Amino acid sequence: MYTLDEEGLHTVSQPVKLSDVPLNLPAGGPPLIDPALDSLFQSLLNKFQTAHPAEDSSPLSAAFQLALQMHAGQKRQSGEPYLIHPLEVAHILADMTTDRTCLITGLLHDLVEDTGVTIEQIRKQFGDDVAACVDGVTKLAKLKFYSREERQAESVRKMLLAMVKDIRVVLVKLADRLHNMRTLGALSVERQERIAQETLEIYAPIAHRLGMGKVRAELEDLGFQYTDPLAFGEIQEAMESKRKAHQGLLDEIRTAVELKLRREGVPVRIEARLKRPYSIWQKLKRQKISIDQVYDLLAVRIVTDSVKNCYAALGTLHGDWHPIPGRIKDFIAIPRPNLYQSLHTSVIGPGGQPFEVQIRTEEMHRIAEDGIAAHWKYKEGNKHAVEDDQQIAWLRQLVEWQREMHDPGEFMSTLKVDLYPEEVYTFTPKGKVIVLPRGATPIDFAYAIHTEVGNLCVGAKVNARIVPLKYMLKNGDVVDILTQHGHLPSKDWLSIAKTSKARNKIKAVINTTERAKAVEIGEKYLEKEARRFGVQWKKVDKEHLRTVASEYGFPKMEDLHAALGYGKFSARQVLIKLAPEQVEASEKANAPAEPATPAVQPDRGEDKDLVIRVKGIDDVMVYRAKCCNPIRGESIVGYITRGKGVAVHSVNCTNVQNLMYEVARKITVEWVRTADDTFSVRLTAYADDRPGILSQLTSVVFHEGSNIKSLEAQPDEHRGDGSAIINVLLDVKDKKQLERVVAAVRRISGIRDVERIN
Ligand code: MN
Repeated sequence: MYTLDEEGLHTVSQPVKLSDVPLNLPAGGPPLIDPALDSLFQSLLNKFQTAHPAEDSSPLSAAFQLALQMHAGQKRQSGEPYLIHPLEVAHILADMTTDRTCLITGLLHDLVEDTGVTIEQIRKQFGDDVAACVDGVTKLAKLKFYSREERQAESVRKMLLAMVKDIRVVLVKLADRLHNMRTLGALSVERQERIAQETLEIYAPIAHRLGMGKVRAELEDLGFQYTDPLAFGEIQEAMESKRKAHQGLLDEIRTAVELKLRREGVPVRIEARLKRPYSIWQKLKRQKISIDQVYDLLAVRIVTDSVKNCYAALGTLHGDWHPIPGRIKDFIAIPRPNLYQSLHTSVIGPGGQPFEVQIRTEEMHRIAEDGIAAHWKYKEGNKHAVEDDQQIAWLRQLVEWQREMHDPGEFMSTLKVDLYPEEVYTFTPKGKVIVLPRGATPIDFAYAIHTEVGNLCVGAKVNARIVPLKYMLKNGDVVDILTQHGHLPSKDWLSIAKTSKARNKIKAVINTTERAKAVEIGEKYLEKEARRFGVQWKKVDKEHLRTVASEYGFPKMEDLHAALGYGKFSARQVLIKLAPEQVEASEKANAPAEPATPAVQPDRGEDKDLVIRVKGIDDVMVYRAKCCNPIRGESIVGYITRGKGVAVHSVNCTNVQNLMYEVARKITVEWVRTADDTFSVRLTAYADDRPGILSQLTSVVFHEGSNIKSLEAQPDEHRGDGSAIINVLLDVKDKKQLERVVAAVRRISGIRDVERIN
């Protein structure tokens, strides 16, 4: 498991109250400050004042004073005063020439987590920017999640960046991690490994992505050292012997290159170095070779003043030493995605020893080393709008900014970023990251976990509160899906689900259940119509029936039934092919008695007409009106519609009361006692947000012998106090059973009211 914090790196004593602090002071004298801490702060102040001579440094001193007071008495695992850590973090940030807000955040970054200071106090003293940054770093420190696969690591990296609203939070977080890695030795081996692993998988790639080559290199080498001490030791040893052997060679190359370029009038600064342990190790693993076979162990870096001179240096170099074909790379013409720029080549040096050369300008060097952090220097140096625009373009590209920006100036001044505008990063309660498109809902989340979880989803809790299924998920949301056995998705989910995965699964379930229903309806409809036309169904040749089905293009009877059930054609059309004489004879015989009613489309609703009958007449199409959905036991009345049979309403239904001005259309209907059909009823329960309420509700409904078809919970937005509205669709036999269910649900503690919905 990953814990994106370094809680183990320090032991935190009781939070210090400000009133306690004077106890540490000698009477009448100035505060007694550890001279080591004081000089560490003085050198920080110097760095800041040198880099930003025009800026007021007093807030920095105030931040130091606050951190000094609040962290007083706290020690790191190593036994050093805790304050060393925030001071060193601020130093790392100062070395990147970041701004004052960054440095103050560095000094205060552990205050909220480890002392009694609140964000509000920080806001009052240091303003909104610092407060927002400290808050961001504190939030990142609280994240906990698992990762075992590479894909998950990528999600974690993206999520971490997506959660950050100000890029400076990432800079502080990286500086924090870097100092913790530098001092990792004080921890237990187990903790070292975990934190180092996380550094390699999460933080070093983020530094890389933001173009921060220097931080990335150090994080990688430290991460390597602690995750695989054996391999690290071997490589270090091998490199040490090579370094000795190559030292003379490196000096020779360096002098030669320098001399030659100076003579050509190219101003240069030359660094000769050996490749880093971690990148050597990566190369050994990737190419399955031994360290003796790594020929680009030696490297020379040439830093010059202009792009023109970069190419000049390359030419001069190739004039003296033979270049290795296929090793020349022009990252100046085609920069890397993180905006890295340089010319790369490998040449055969003195004594046939190959070495790698990087050529770049000072500006490219800054970007290669500090990446996104390099921005601040430019921002202060270049006041010209055009140049500023170029820097904005650079940053935009750097973070793969994808959206149209209306006011780039404002963007830069606030440094607000939305690194992945099309994705949202959410968690399972166990901390697995689920990446969804923006606008995704708990239904998408449920289907992303598993199809079954999606199908059985009846509600969701986000950050421990019930939300509606249409809730739009936000970065960092912890989502808990509530499921109910036997539940099936409904059609309206199609308008809620955002991902194609969820939509396809929902459609599949709906199609299957609807088809099953259609097959059943179609089969009954055909048999019933056969009886009506005097066709003796039992005697119908089934082989003949199959032939008729195949004439319609259906290989199976089931398909014919489904087509009838969906109302694609009438049963009469089938029957006339099957038994033309009987159908025609029956139609002739009945013609005068029964006016030609068009073949009534079978009722596609859940209940068939068998449960209600028009008093005294048998062969009339009867259906229950959707508006009041009467159930057995209720007083009902029939209303003759135009061409659709008799609609049965509850006598209390307001619709039917309005319709009854046409008295002639009123007809008496009655419940048929024999059928054991059930009726679907919708109930809405108003409940307090109490754990277990859903399971209690299902259990009382079950206890009354009723069956739940669907159940959905959502917050009561009118109340907004955490209470919930629960919608239940259930099957009941009759009015009495419904009354028992409603009474039982009312008795559940936490249920405030129940009502029947039509
Ligand atoms: Mn820290």
